[in-house]
Amino acid sequence: MHIVHIAVEMAPIAKVGGLGDVVTSLSRAVQDLNHNVNIILPKYDCLNLSHVKDLHYQKSYSWGGTEIKVWFGKVEGLSVYFLEPQNGFVWTGCVYGCKNDAERFGFFCHAALEFLHQGGLQPDIIHCHDWSSAPVAWLFKDHYMHYGLSKTRVVFTIHNLEFGAHFIGKAMAYADKATTVSHTYSKEVAGNPAVAPHLHKFHGILNGIDLDIWDPYNDKFIPVPYTSENVVEGKRAAKEALQQRLGLKKSDHPLVGIITRLTHQKGIHLIKHAIWNTLKRNGQIVLLGSAPDPRIQNDFVNLANQLHSSHSDQARLCLTYDEPLSHLIYAGADFILVPSIFEPCGLTQLTAMRYGSIPVVRKTGGLYDTVFDVDDDKARAEAQGLEPNGFNFDGADGAGVDYALNRAISAWYDGRDWFNSLCKRVMEQDWSWNRPALDYMELYHAAKKY
Ligand code: ADP
Repeated sequence: MHIVHIAVEMAPIAKVGGLGDVVTSLSRAVQDLNHNVNIILPKYDCLNLSHVKDLHYQKSYSWGGTEIKVWFGKVEGLSVYFLEPQNGFVWTGCVYGCKNDAERFGFFCHAALEFLHQGGLQPDIIHCHDWSSAPVAWLFKDHYMHYGLSKTRVVFTIHNLEFGAHFIGKAMAYADKATTVSHTYSKEVAGNPAVAPHLHKFHGILNGIDLDIWDPYNDKFIPVPYTSENVVEGKRAAKEALQQRLGLKKSDHPLVGIITRLTHQKGIHLIKHAIWNTLKRNGQIVLLGSAPDPRIQNDFVNLANQLHSSHSDQARLCLTYDEPLSHLIYAGADFILVPSIFEPCGLTQLTAMRYGSIPVVRKTGGLYDTVFDVDDDKARAEAQGLEPNGFNFDGADGAGVDYALNRAISAWYDGRDWFNSLCKRVMEQDWSWNRPALDYMELYHAAKKY
């Protein structure tokens, strides 16, 4: 099958959040099943070009009264076309945040379809994502389906319904099949007016993580390679390296890590509550996060200053985006906390488990589908063929997060053998793309029959 993703994010060259990870790792997993996968991306001037191999100008075409240059390169083994319009409508700055985001992404979607059409390419599936490439679905059905792309079908994935619900509703109406990124999130959004009329073609398929990108046995950002066999030594070395790098006290305390965009979705008030509770219980806390909203960023700068004077050797807030540091935190932490108010899938809890860190999460969306509480969820885990793998909580107040975090920290202090065997067990669970890629292939085949 030939699958083309039209997307505005792609890890690691233009990643803002999980959408960028999914485009790359789903594509790689499907390509590994011997299908032909391409990605069409805007040629932003902020692309991280060190990860693009053999980038070269390929050709130009005309559309919308302008010349559009096409560049081609390889990213993580995937073939990527970069579109660069010459009309001054350039992709400056970073992925999102321009005043005319909707207009420039609309232009990009149209230009991408035109690129396929003029190039005589007729993929089996065009896969578009979230509000930013939602226009592909209706432009296709209004026009391109009748002109040159009649054998193609469109699949649309909702990564987060929080943004651009109006665009998403339109894409849901026009796509042949639609998905979102976990079963529970698909139920949570089923009543949303953008989704409700289209439930007959809507499916929840859990995201996975790319085991090559996230591999503690082969990770240049951590000091000692490890698998589940030497998880204790590997994590101990990573914890020491993390403590040293951030100037924390080198001591064997439970270390809670948080790696997140700092937005209300991620449960900011619960994050703050958990920071103080962890310190009260003699733990260490490391937060890596950046806030698109300057008021939230300022708020955390103030908190970082406050913690610097009161707990400088026990707490560190790194208020930036730093992929290498994220690897060291995943490896060096004992727990990764994800207290999201809502979470379509969530990748942090899956990556945490890959590195033998125990997830502590709020029971919502994909967090609910992937984290099974060691005290409360044995039966639910068994129904999935799994053993419990973390701690979770209900509610959106401090008492909820305390319920999970207190049990987690106590378990760490009370039974190190038990805790170490839990780390080993979560590392051995399979949260890769192997299964989800097969689910997507099934969906692509079903779309072709549509
Ligand atoms: P979302 O897409 O809502 O941001 P996900 O959990 O799906 O949330 O994906 C977040 C991804 O971004 C994860 O791979 C996580 O490791 C990464 N990430 C989030 N914040 C940072 C940061 N400040 N520095 C480095 N990586 C980050």
